[in-house]
Amino acid sequence: MFRKLVLAVIDGLTPDALDRGLERGRLPALRLLLDAGGQYVRGVSTFPSVTPVCLSAIATGAGPDVHGIPHLAWYHRGEGRIVEYGSSLAAIRATGLRGALRDSVAGLSRDHLSPGAITVFEQLGDAGLVTAAVNFTCYRGRHTHRIRLPGVAARNRWYESVDGPERFFFFNLFESDATGAPLAVRSRAAGSVDAYAAAVGRWLITRDGFDFLVYYLPDYDYASHGAGPEGAGDALERADSCLGRLFAAAGGPDEFLSRYAIIVSADHGQMPVGHAVRLERTFAGLRLLQPRRQRAGGADLVVTASNRAGMVYRLPGCPLAARELAERLDRDPAADVVLFLEGAAGVARRGGAELRFEPSPAGWLLEGSPEVLDPGRYPNGLERAWRALRCPAAGEVIVSAAEGYEFVDLGGRHHAGGGSHGSLLAGDSLVPVIQVGLADGLQLPPAPSITDLAPLVAGHFGLDAPGARAPAAVAGV
Ligand SMILES: [Zn+2]
Repeated sequence: MFRKLVLAVIDGLTPDALDRGLERGRLPALRLLLDAGGQYVRGVSTFPSVTPVCLSAIATGAGPDVHGIPHLAWYHRGEGRIVEYGSSLAAIRATGLRGALRDSVAGLSRDHLSPGAITVFEQLGDAGLVTAAVNFTCYRGRHTHRIRLPGVAARNRWYESVDGPERFFFFNLFESDATGAPLAVRSRAAGSVDAYAAAVGRWLITRDGFDFLVYYLPDYDYASHGAGPEGAGDALERADSCLGRLFAAAGGPDEFLSRYAIIVSADHGQMPVGHAVRLERTFAGLRLLQPRRQRAGGADLVVTASNRAGMVYRLPGCPLAARELAERLDRDPAADVVLFLEGAAGVARRGGAELRFEPSPAGWLLEGSPEVLDPGRYPNGLERAWRALRCPAAGEVIVSAAEGYEFVDLGGRHHAGGGSHGSLLAGDSLVPVIQVGLADGLQLPPAPSITDLAPLVAGHFGLDAPGARAPAAVAGV
């Protein structure tokens, strides 16, 4: 008989920050998991290493080529508009408040996530298990939930119901059960979002209310954006205490571990950033879609940059090919790896050097300079770059930012002086993965991808990895 399972995701947690906190003795809950025989390895994120792409990878066990979510901000070719999941309040305003709220609350899971991908909530729900999630933005499941605030539902019919896990809690907007948890307001100073998650988690544990819970803690990422990954104050201690509150709700750590297996991981890392630049500046002379207008007529290009990655979309009539657009970035110090497709191959350029790459049954076919995607600098770089390029909703050119740089978002905001993520570089890409108590014989591979988490969860419950999946549908994106 399996234990129930908690998958805790601490947004933006790097292995280095975790190790520092453990060495200083400031993370009692995480230390306890290691002392209880926990397995701890370094895993690798997806690309772009930004939250919507990564949480979709965690939920589906697939990369953006299959799950279909290309970036934090992207151009929806089918609808001729920019999708913005919340790079900043200014970016949300720039692309239209109502549309951005719709995209981030309901659009990702309901409209953008490929039907060809299967979420862990769908798979486990179909197997008769009780699934639960708190604040996790890629939540598609088998249970319909109506929005909880009647006034909001009356005014905004588009997100009055969504399909999620059986027990579903999402920033007070959707709550399958009345838990008495405080409002998860967006003013993060006091760690209020995680406090909401901890209150819901406590309620679920005391009622033995799930077989599988995704416990998502975003406040650490928020603090790390502001102060940088080296200086995020006590934010990690607060995330650790949210784990401790789950243990306490079970009656103590021993009781918790006798009833539950737990995986703790992150979606992506973070790196310090000192410079913010507009990716758009490289494309002088071309007509760029202005987010405020949100109409593509007369424009050549759409640039959707956010954090440390950017997408460049060619519109019909654009006079430059993807290669010409990519080559413009050769001398841009903010652009590190620049990717595009040419024929059947992916092309990666860095500082004028070029690598062509293409998967084959025998491994990667490479031509040119392999050091462009040096695996020491870019963990799992070939596969991550390939899956990003093969996402139907991705731009024709994808840009990974250089160390120390961030791209200004569509609202003009950035985190220069703090931390950011999104690139292929190791600092943005490496995440810790800890597990305790997975079913017999299940171990973390030495350097797992975050896409290995959903198959591990399925395996723990005696299920196969979530099925053969089709590539993301092209229609509508
Ligand atoms: Zn972030």
